[in-house]
Amino acid sequence: MTYHIENGKVVTPEGCELNVAHHCNLGCASCSHLSPVFKRSFIEPDTAQRDLHLLARSFRAQFVKVLGGEPLLHRELVPILRSVRTSGIAPRIIVCTNGVLLPRMGEEFWAAVDEVEISVYPGRELPAEKMARVRQFAEEHGVTLTLLHYTHFRYSYSEFGTRDDRLVQRIYDTCQIAHIWRCHTLFEGYFFKCPQSVFIPQVLEGGPDMWRDGLRITDDPGFAERLLAYLQDPTPLGACRNCLGSAGLRMPHEQRTRRDFRTPQRHTTEELADRDFLALLDGTPDADDGCAVDTPEEWRARLRETAGATAARADTTANTVKGS
Ligand code: SF4
Repeated sequence: MTYHIENGKVVTPEGCELNVAHHCNLGCASCSHLSPVFKRSFIEPDTAQRDLHLLARSFRAQFVKVLGGEPLLHRELVPILRSVRTSGIAPRIIVCTNGVLLPRMGEEFWAAVDEVEISVYPGRELPAEKMARVRQFAEEHGVTLTLLHYTHFRYSYSEFGTRDDRLVQRIYDTCQIAHIWRCHTLFEGYFFKCPQSVFIPQVLEGGPDMWRDGLRITDDPGFAERLLAYLQDPTPLGACRNCLGSAGLRMPHEQRTRRDFRTPQRHTTEELADRDFLALLDGTPDADDGCAVDTPEEWRARLRETAGATAARADTTANTVKGS
């Protein structure tokens, strides 16, 4: 299924995203929103309301994901959720969170949301007792709770990028974020194809012009047609030159500080791209990226496997050093 126009609105088979806090209380390595480098910054509720209502005149999604950074850090999250609802842009509201602050959320939050998606990271999972309370709140309010257990991440961008236009085109063509998951992002009066094109330019000195990658949301009669053309445009974005799309090398999940977050990305796109996965994506656009699993059992098994492989690699290195 792809985009189409119905009753003057562009309809997407997926959702759109609203980043309400750019910073985070965790520091996941290679976070694709680059949240660990952002200082405390929140979206204004009035801005969210203005943009959502304007976009809703020409765009319809199946759901809106409210995320960040960590969205639960926003003190005015509930009014923002209500704005999403009153805009009528989508019938379903999903809040994506790392879950750490979820036990503190009150009745009003649970009443305003349809689904909470928790990304569970090693060492950051909620204790059983708190998780039981969260489950109870969700059940009482008819909220769907979805848990994604992460063991790995993929490098999300390269500080140095590439000059190889064919590689940029291939990264764009195989990008699940833009073309499969369609994580279209609403930001400061603009519609962006992906969150990376919002965040990469804000971090890279002398990086691409962020606003050129987006489409200004307007209320004129031609906007829906322009939005459709923008979504179907086969030309890579400026940000794709530094972005790895879905094809970054896979690495075990780890936490990093703001100071050292950018260091691992100080390589070229060529060095950080996973050529095997890129080849797989060429033929299987929705291939599993191998980062998350659905059940805690699979999660623990994969974490044990990863720890075993890391220890084995350390042993081999030690033996090589001894024998050399
Ligand atoms: S910047 Fe390009 S490659 Fe990266 S997520 Fe957006 S469309 Fe995909």
